[in-house]
Amino acid sequence: MNRTLRSAGELAAAGLLPPEAVAALAPVEARYAVAVTPEVAALIRAGHADVARQYLPDPSELLTAPHERGDPTADAPFTPVKGVVHRYPDRALLKPLLACPVYCRFCFRREAVGPDGGLLSEAELEAALDWFARTPGVREAILTGGDPLILSPRRLGRILGRLAALPHIEVLRIHSRVPVADPGRVTEALLGVLEPGKPLYLCVHANAAAEFTPAAGAALRALHAAGVVLLGQSVLLRGVNDSPEALEALFRAMLRHRVKPYYLHQLDPAPGTARFAVPVEEGLALLARLRGRVTGLAWPTYVQERPEGAGKFPLGMPAMQ
Ligand SMILES: *Cc1c(COP(=O)(O)O)cnc(C)c1O
Ligand code: SF4
Repeated sequence: MNRTLRSAGELAAAGLLPPEAVAALAPVEARYAVAVTPEVAALIRAGHADVARQYLPDPSELLTAPHERGDPTADAPFTPVKGVVHRYPDRALLKPLLACPVYCRFCFRREAVGPDGGLLSEAELEAALDWFARTPGVREAILTGGDPLILSPRRLGRILGRLAALPHIEVLRIHSRVPVADPGRVTEALLGVLEPGKPLYLCVHANAAAEFTPAAGAALRALHAAGVVLLGQSVLLRGVNDSPEALEALFRAMLRHRVKPYYLHQLDPAPGTARFAVPVEEGLALLARLRGRVTGLAWPTYVQERPEGAGKFPLGMPAMQ
C-alpha cells in the first residue's frame, strides 16, 4: 500500500483494523480526521502496538471526560491575527496550515486539525507575516500547525525567507512529525529551503523508539547535514511510552539519530483522549527510574500546559531513587 489511508474502511481493507470495527468508527471519523501513512502502516503491520495506538481511531474518542476541553491550550485569547499565537514575549507561533501527514488520536489540537482545514489564504499569510514584521520583541518564529513540512517547498521557503529577513528574528523553529511519520517528504527540494540564513531548529514529534525507521533515519541525517538543529518532543502516553523501558528506548533512539530530547509533554486534556492519560505523579516516578542510569543528553524537560492559557510549566525534577 503506497498511499496514506484516510478512513476506518481503508484501514480495515489494509488489514490494520478488524472489518467489524468499521461501523462503530463512523461517528469518530466524522468528527476527527484519520490518516496513516505507508511508513506508519508498515510499523503497525509489523506488530508495533505502541505505534498503532497513536493513530488508529477508537470508539472511546466520542466520550468527553469532565475535565477535557476543546481548546486545552487556550490559544484563542493570544491570537493577534489569524494563524499567529503570541503568548510569550520573545517568541510566537505561526500556523500556516492545520493539515498533518498523520492524525494522532491524542492531539491537543484535534478539534482544529484536518485535511481540509486552516490553510491560510495569501492575504491571511501576508497579514501574519506583517504582524511578525511589526512586533520587534519577537526574536523567534515557531512554525507549527498542523505540520509545516507538508507545505510545498516553495511556499515554506517563502515563509522562512520572509521571517529570516526580519532583523529582529534571530531564530526559526519548526515543529513537525514529517521526518518520522512521512520521511519521503524530506526531499532535496524541501532540504533546499531549510537553509534560510538564520539558525533553524526542527522539533521532531515522536513517542516510540519504533518510529525511528531506517527511512526516518535517512531523513534526519539529511536534515542534520543541511544544518538544521534537531530536537525531540514527545507526549507521555498510556500504552505507548508509559514504562521506564519505553521512555529510555525512545530517548536513546532520538540521540542515535542526532535528535536531542527537548520536551516530554504531559497529555493535554483534549476531548476523547482519556485512554492516553498518565497522572503527573506517575510521570515523575517513571523519569526518576531513568535518573543517573541514562545519559543526561537523553533528558527532556517534563512540561505541562497550565489551564486558562497560563503556558507551559516544567514539572519538578524527580528525586533520585
Ligand atoms: C509551546 C509554545 C511556545 C514554545 O515554547 P518553548 O517553551 O519555547 O518551547 C511558544 N508559544 C506558544 C503559544 C506555545 O504554546
Ligand atoms: S502531527 Fe501534531 S498537530 Fe498533527 S495530529 Fe499529530 S500531534 Fe496533532
